[in-house]
Amino acid sequence: MNDILRIAVQKSGRLSEDSFALIKECGIDFQNGIGQLKAQATNFPAEFLLLRDDDIPGYVADGVADIGIVGENVMLEKSKDTEVVHRLGFSKCRLSIAIPKNEEYKGIKGLEGKSIATSYPRILRHFLEANQVSADIHEISGSVEIAPSIGLAEAICDLVSSGSTLFTNGLKEVEVVLKSEAVLIRQKNLSESKTNLLDKLLFRIKSVQNARKNKYILLNAPKSKVEEIKKLIPGMRSPSLMELADKDWVSMHSVINENDFWNVIEALRAAGAEGILVVPIEKMIL
Ligand code: ATP
Ligand code: MG
Repeated sequence: MNDILRIAVQKSGRLSEDSFALIKECGIDFQNGIGQLKAQATNFPAEFLLLRDDDIPGYVADGVADIGIVGENVMLEKSKDTEVVHRLGFSKCRLSIAIPKNEEYKGIKGLEGKSIATSYPRILRHFLEANQVSADIHEISGSVEIAPSIGLAEAICDLVSSGSTLFTNGLKEVEVVLKSEAVLIRQKNLSESKTNLLDKLLFRIKSVQNARKNKYILLNAPKSKVEEIKKLIPGMRSPSLMELADKDWVSMHSVINENDFWNVIEALRAAGAEGILVVPIEKMIL
């Protein structure tokens, strides 16, 4: 029997858009009918299960799905028997402790004996234990940020991205408990054929991520400057060189990392490069 890989993804929410975009960039197409819970890939042996994110770690641990895309925060809170295969770099957020903004923060020890409302009791308990603080954890499933104003708790522990929700609720972030991002998780006991499919998918994901991090650069340089410029754009092996009709000049092509992008461009201009073009890369196989 030809195996297929069952992939659990969030049906709709803060992980969905980037999860679907990544799958698409990996060259995998599927039809996603409204209200559907399952979707078959048309050009890869995979099937997608569209779920609430809270259910993803459990489905993967039980083997209903083979792999899944979920926030690390949810994976750790659910504490099911799954493994992180790869970090995906999107849906970044922090799980943080916040207190009313007019209150003075006296450090972690100042939380001793306080009541803290959260939807992440497990992660919070570990954090407090690691810091030898005992506090009263109130588990609530939503709208955690209003807990202090209605007198339910003195502090909260909740997800933060920009901090604007905290601010509008009169709170300030005082302690980061966890930095989270979307992760690809797997069931521990995958068959060999499913492991092969997972490896194939992972290879594609890494190619997409490498491509996003790098740009293709083309420029013209005086022949006398080639050695100097070569050092600035070493590329994957070394830059390509092409003759121009003007014999004193060459065209050089290479790949540069987005992180040093502007520094490299400035150095290239200073070295005499002209007509610099920078273009996106669709896939990058290392
Ligand atoms: P579901 O209906 O699937 O249960 P949800 O409402 O529980 O969805 P979302 O709000 O869609 O969950 O968030 C999903 C994940 O996105 C979070 O668990 C977290 O990993 C990540 N995330 C990123 N930024 C934020 C943010 N500002 N607030 C909440 N979650 C965020
Ligand atoms: Mg959820």
